Amino acid sequence: MKVREELQRLAALSAIDIELHDLREELGDLPFEVEQMEEDLAAVVGRMEETSQKIKDLVQFRTDARISTKDMEERVKKLAEQQFQARNNKEFDAITKEIENLQRERRRIEEELGSSNLTEENLKRTRDGQEAEFLEAKERLAAKERELKALSSDQNEEMAALLKQREELLEQLTGEHREMYERIRSYHYNPVVRIHKGSCSGCYNFVPPQRIVEMRKYRKLEICENCGRLMYPEEMEIPAEMTVS
Ligand SMILES: [Zn+2]
Repeated sequence: MKVREELQRLAALSAIDIELHDLREELGDLPFEVEQMEEDLAAVVGRMEETSQKIKDLVQFRTDARISTKDMEERVKKLAEQQFQARNNKEFDAITKEIENLQRERRRIEEELGSSNLTEENLKRTRDGQEAEFLEAKERLAAKERELKALSSDQNEEMAALLKQREELLEQLTGEHREMYERIRSYHYNPVVRIHKGSCSGCYNFVPPQRIVEMRKYRKLEICENCGRLMYPEEMEIPAEMTVS
């Protein structure tokens, strides 16, 4: 067994596992994101319906209010006529009170009618905003769905190639190294890391120069004392035939 080749295989294996990890993560979030966007869209539709209902109610209120103020007007007129024919003060006062009540109620409705214009304007502006929000959300969802669809089909091919190469590399490793690799992988999604600027690139822990010198002799495998990942020298290349192009 040549240590250098074995280390190259392990590094290639780790690179493949990182890619698989990234792919799964990428796809892992997408279905959830699509679901979230569908919920967002439904929520916007709900808010739009609510606003439309409020506008409808307002229009109905206006129609009703016009009818009832007209009724009140006529009733006040009739009462005024009755007042002329009042037989005594008591009757006169009672009619006066009724007229006052009707006029107060009429003023209240008219005030409400007055402010209803502003309310309607505000509601329409709200609805316009919600419509824009709806279109935007719909477009976002469609784009995300396209992304998911494209990615799923691309991924199937890419994953198959990676898994095949992974199997081959595992088969070529010694049993001892295969076990070691899987053990490290149970803690780290990137079990094998390059030395970078004198440190482990998995945990950034400093590696004594003497250990790096040893590593470059390719006599045995070196594990990071801090994180337990397998390390390889900065300049070590991974042969193309061990990777998935
Ligand atoms: Zn480390």
